[in-house]
Amino acid sequence: MKIRIIGGGPAGLYFASLMKREDPAHDIVIYERGARDATWGFGVVFSDRALEFLRDDDEAMYQQLSPLMQTWPNLTIVHNDTRIPITGNGFAAIGRLELLSLLYAHVEALGVRIEFDSEVSSLADRERLGGADLIVGANGASSWIRNENEEKFGTISDLRRNKFIWYGTSKVFDSLSLTFRNTDHGVFCAHHYRYSPTMSTFLVEVEEETWRQAGFENMSPEDTVRHCERVFAQDLDGHPILSNKSGWRQFPAIWNERWSFGNVVLIGDALRTAHFSIGSGTRLAMEDAIALWKALRENASVSEALARYQELRLPPMKKIWDAANVSLRWYERMGELMKLPPVDFAYSYMTRTGRVNHAEVRRRDSALAAAYEANHPELRAAFGLTG
Ligand SMILES: Cc1cc2nc3c(=O)[nH]c(=O)nc-3n(C[C@H](O)[C@H](O)[C@H](O)COP(=O)(O)OP(=O)(O)OC[C@H]3O[C@@H](n4cnc5c(N)ncnc54)[C@H](O)[C@@H]3O)c2cc1C
Repeated sequence: MKIRIIGGGPAGLYFASLMKREDPAHDIVIYERGARDATWGFGVVFSDRALEFLRDDDEAMYQQLSPLMQTWPNLTIVHNDTRIPITGNGFAAIGRLELLSLLYAHVEALGVRIEFDSEVSSLADRERLGGADLIVGANGASSWIRNENEEKFGTISDLRRNKFIWYGTSKVFDSLSLTFRNTDHGVFCAHHYRYSPTMSTFLVEVEEETWRQAGFENMSPEDTVRHCERVFAQDLDGHPILSNKSGWRQFPAIWNERWSFGNVVLIGDALRTAHFSIGSGTRLAMEDAIALWKALRENASVSEALARYQELRLPPMKKIWDAANVSLRWYERMGELMKLPPVDFAYSYMTRTGRVNHAEVRRRDSALAAAYEANHPELRAAFGLTG
């Protein structure tokens, strides 16, 4: 097959690697508009069983990536000055550049050509896309392929209210932490975690009103960093916040009713975005790649395979997408939620997507469940607990 992939992020790269591994005769080129060593952001986190999703289909990749991951078994919720460690929530993280570099080397070793500094801006680009059996739109959340074909894809796009900015810091945190601090302007939240022995991601999120009150609209990038450093001074322990072309953004919640037309198909963030608070964007992108590869392997024609891809992938993906959308709404109410006592706040966080009920909280963290039950005797009665 002649396959042309637009976008060299985790989705496009991983799809290329699976196809080329399957059949070295495939003619695959990835067009990536960025430079080989250019990337935005810092580290990415994988939730739940981290890389287990790779294991069945790609043990080699699993073995290559696993030693590079920073892992920790717990997460910590910080409610102003109260720290609440929560057990039973494992996470793993890696630098985005490190992940991409590994994938570049992997796909190139398999014989895939990656053209860096190569922006494709039209499906009518004959020179690069002409004669392709399959064109893969793997060009991320702002995909023009999707935007220009919204009707064909049945695109639904919802720009959420909260503002966030993706920073890093040299402070190395022990666990994935969610720190919430009341300020004169409203509540600030930092999602922070170590992704290498010397670096952590430090993503700051605020409600729109807080963002306005703090004056971020007219603040320079340097003053924005200083402001966030002051808010989280206790958490940063004197370490600086580091910027990497960081700017305030709003999260676009994206969905598509149809995932392909003709020989054009979407994967990764171009297909759908999942809020960073559930740590699944990169994993979902790689799982899309696995599903598309399987569908192509099992079907004789591209059109059958593309229909099968959506059929196969929709149910598991929709479940996580729904959870991500409930999760992002929880953060949109953080000012209100911070009025809860710290234990109730942490409990509310744990149960926010509706996928973790009280029995599950008890299983994961009996101390948190007991503390919550102490605040809520009615729950003890419902569970038939005494003492
Ligand atoms: C602030 C923030 C924090 C996040 N945190 C996490 C996290 O902790 N854990 C996690 O798993 N995920 C996280 N994500 C999400 C994660 O980064 C994405 O879900 C994941 O990278 C999706 O992979 P992708 O390959 O679909 O898209 P991308 O990684 O966005 O890659 C798309 C690629 O396409 C290229 N491209 C775009 N247009 C063109 C064009 N016209 N021509 C050629 N190339 C083009 C881009 O340069 C880019 O390299 C976060 C995202 C954001 C914004």
